[in-house]
Amino acid sequence: MSDDLFKKVTSHAKEYGFVFQSSEIYDGLSAVYDYGQNGVELKNNLREYWWKAMVQMNENIVGLDSAIFMHPKVWKASGHVDGFSDPMIDNKDSKKRYRADQLIEDQVARLEKKGKQDAAAALEEAMNVALNDNNLQALRDLILEQEIACPISGTRNWTEVRQFNLMFSTQMGSVADDADEVYLRPETAQGIFVNFLNVQKTGRMKIPFGIAQVGKAFRNEIIARQFIMRMREFEQMEMQFFVKPGTEMEWFEHWKETRMKWHLSLGADPANYRFHEHVKLAHYANAAVDIEFNFPFGFKEVEGIHSRTDFDLKQHQEFSGKKLQVFDTESNTNYIPYVIETSIGLDRLFLLTMCNAYREEEVPAGDKTETRTVLALPPQLAPIKVAVLPLTKKDGLPEKAREIMNNLMISYRCHFEEKDTIGKRYRRHDAIGTPLCITVDHESLSDNTVTIRHRDSMQQERVPIEKLEEIVENIVSMKSLFK
Ligand code: ATP
Repeated sequence: MSDDLFKKVTSHAKEYGFVFQSSEIYDGLSAVYDYGQNGVELKNNLREYWWKAMVQMNENIVGLDSAIFMHPKVWKASGHVDGFSDPMIDNKDSKKRYRADQLIEDQVARLEKKGKQDAAAALEEAMNVALNDNNLQALRDLILEQEIACPISGTRNWTEVRQFNLMFSTQMGSVADDADEVYLRPETAQGIFVNFLNVQKTGRMKIPFGIAQVGKAFRNEIIARQFIMRMREFEQMEMQFFVKPGTEMEWFEHWKETRMKWHLSLGADPANYRFHEHVKLAHYANAAVDIEFNFPFGFKEVEGIHSRTDFDLKQHQEFSGKKLQVFDTESNTNYIPYVIETSIGLDRLFLLTMCNAYREEEVPAGDKTETRTVLALPPQLAPIKVAVLPLTKKDGLPEKAREIMNNLMISYRCHFEEKDTIGKRYRRHDAIGTPLCITVDHESLSDNTVTIRHRDSMQQERVPIEKLEEIVENIVSMKSLFK
């Protein structure tokens, strides 16, 4: 995969109504994006597949939809007010701001490329030590020692390194003086922790059990790049699994394997996925692994699986003064459960899915060949499942096609199109990933059959109209992903 592919995917996403830059007519808002008519369908389908796999298919996992605003003390307790920050550094000439650790990581990659593996490893180690010790001066020293220059100005005229908190804040209340500072949540997890006992009691849940949630999260990323990879407003799909202390490693392994299987069920080449074990652990974790995907710009995190111990519940118990414990009938004692978290970014999953699906292929066209662009999405995720195409606009063909459309649209997102040649209509649907095109022609009027054309193989077959629903169901239903 190459940068070239990434450029193509990005422009394809815009051209075919998947992703637009936010407020584009005002020249856009940096690292904020909108999903267009096809993007919203693909995103909904990804969300639905995750929800079904996590909530519907697990008897001991339930859902939640908590608010974006939370009591400000939540973020004090969770450690985000004091600790959710990245080290930043400015170049005095270009006035550009960078994440200090990313400047060093880029240098590590350059050294590796030059074959200087030992130097790269030593630099990475020194950076990890500095990050662990929160030693900002040491980070700056590394940048100076390595003679890292600003990519814009080319100079090494750097400011000090400072910590920059990634949370967005705003005022709640109508009178400025009395208004409370509240935050836009930087993760959905805390909504689950503070509702832990509500759900456990009202749902009569027994350990081990999980709570899943999908929702927006906000981070004021210092630098945002790579399209929807790193956004300032994004969507997370998280599940917190509450277990008995001492069993967390077993469950960590369980969720690690289960989540990787889920990714692979979508049909991508397993060689494009890998686990990345964390050496430097967050303050709340005793084990952590990322699932990384081979994006066109290299292997990057899509999902994190973290063993969060009892850190969060314990903190909330302390800060709120309310007990957040369960009763263990075996030992007759109360305890705070441990937590395994699975946390995936919906937007990154969307980008992964687009990168995986994008193809340019040489296909026969008469006695020549031509290039077609096809989004080979898993049919279950495609924005439009079926295109219904009357061959011509006359002779009663549109009416016949409408009948088919009216029947199929009850169950599936369908699209009716009568403009342009059939060939052009096929190409447009290839480009947005529609797995099936149904063509209605003159024969259809007399013998009630239609042509079904399959996106990937481009094979066509003649089938009775009464069989359509069954054929479509077999190809596009999410049920097949669970079998
Ligand atoms: P990164 O190291 O890439 O900043 P992170 O380790 O901070 O990510 P987590 O806090 O573990 O990420 O969040 C869980 C998931 O949320 C990530 O695996 C990613 O898919 C998604 N995510 C995090 N930050 C962003 C962002 N700014 N834009 C889009 N998705 C994000």
